Amino acid sequence: MNSFETVKRYKNLSESPVSLLDRTYEMIENDDLNDYITLTKNIAYEEAYKSEKRYKEGNPLSELDGVLFSIKDNIAVENIRMTCGSKILSDFISPYNATAVERIMKKGGIIVGKTNMDEFAMGSSNETSYFGPVKNPKNKDYVPGGSSGGSAASVASGHACISIGSDTGGSIRQPASFCGCVGFKPTYGTISRYGLTAFSSSLDTVGIASNCVADSKLAFEAVRGRDEHDSTIEDKKNDKRNYKKIGYISVIKHMDGPVREVYEKRISQLSDAFVLEEVAMDFIDVSISTYQIQTMCESSSNLARFDGIKYGLQPKEGKTLRKIYSAVRGEGFGSEVKRRILIGTYFLTERDGEYYELSFKLRDYIANQIDLLFTKVDAIVLPTSLTLPFRFDEKTTSPLQMHLSDSLTAFANLSNVPAISLNGGYIDNLPCGIQLVAKRNDDDNLLEFASTAEEIWSKNE
Ligand code: GLN
Repeated sequence: MNSFETVKRYKNLSESPVSLLDRTYEMIENDDLNDYITLTKNIAYEEAYKSEKRYKEGNPLSELDGVLFSIKDNIAVENIRMTCGSKILSDFISPYNATAVERIMKKGGIIVGKTNMDEFAMGSSNETSYFGPVKNPKNKDYVPGGSSGGSAASVASGHACISIGSDTGGSIRQPASFCGCVGFKPTYGTISRYGLTAFSSSLDTVGIASNCVADSKLAFEAVRGRDEHDSTIEDKKNDKRNYKKIGYISVIKHMDGPVREVYEKRISQLSDAFVLEEVAMDFIDVSISTYQIQTMCESSSNLARFDGIKYGLQPKEGKTLRKIYSAVRGEGFGSEVKRRILIGTYFLTERDGEYYELSFKLRDYIANQIDLLFTKVDAIVLPTSLTLPFRFDEKTTSPLQMHLSDSLTAFANLSNVPAISLNGGYIDNLPCGIQLVAKRNDDDNLLEFASTAEEIWSKNE
């Protein structure tokens, strides 16, 4: 159920926030998806009773009053455990609300719980979570994507209406593609990162998973905008305009046949309403290595704070600082996180940090190429992922294969542009996402275009 149907039922009093919450928790508890790490029943019911009263009095706070939200477990909710999917933070309680959470609650949104995720948002399948993998609600033998696998699964299974997650290299869009829902990554700097645990600060974006574009718009409106806690946030918007020219790519390396099938079908369906133009996106080839260097360097530095002294497990042994650090970090971090910290440290120290510097040059190159593309077309349409959802353990032994999952998403983070993944359809009951990308700060126009594409595609199943 989307937020509009929910609110309609609240308004005609055929459903109440408390009864919807009861049903939702029952559903979550009777399901084995493992999409939540922590359920936030106390605060949820407290807010639901207040919301119920407002509807009875005919006085709802906003269009999101009583709407059920899930929050990825790397985003802070006051007095609630925040694990980031890691053992090292398994006892950590957030002392404050993230700005996005604060703003959702001000509108009357109800927080159902904290969603499962790849450890510290590092992964593409949700299999690196200390709390176990999430199952794909569309087929439980398959992964839900990652790192916001719990967020996408919670929305696609009706365990929440909208989810707030994060996207550093595709973590909202790729799970949305795998679970058959909508995943929106706005322009870097539009939603405050205050209260989002940093993974790779120059790429991290708060993102939104939902079942329709309209819900993404509503949630985006609620959380966006200046924030005194995050100096990178600007209120910049481009002028309102309708897109006419849409770019598509015909050569995509390593793309699976079924994905191509869905992509070609959806592109051709846009041809009545838009002018289609083939574009080249050769920079995709360098985007994965650029992304890897940037994120590994930044995360090796960002994760230094989890040392058992500032944050993290309490040390059981160790007489010197060095021993405490190694005991706590050795026990608290999983192997993917350790791998990235080690490689990131290598990149930052070897050759005087030349690798990190070079990655910025590549990043500038990618951003320039993207800027050039958007002088020719208004938006680009491409698949979200090279593959359909894959089975558990299919890629865990090959980090390289796993990283290919980000091939078509990471460039948007590297160039700070907005991108949204919509469900393009199903092949053998497995969802396949199609991604729409626009120029920097064109989020509102991109969302309008996404609504149009959603409408066209839903009429032509
Ligand atoms: N799959 C990517 C990675 O493992 C993306 C993660 C993200 O966007 N948080 O780095």
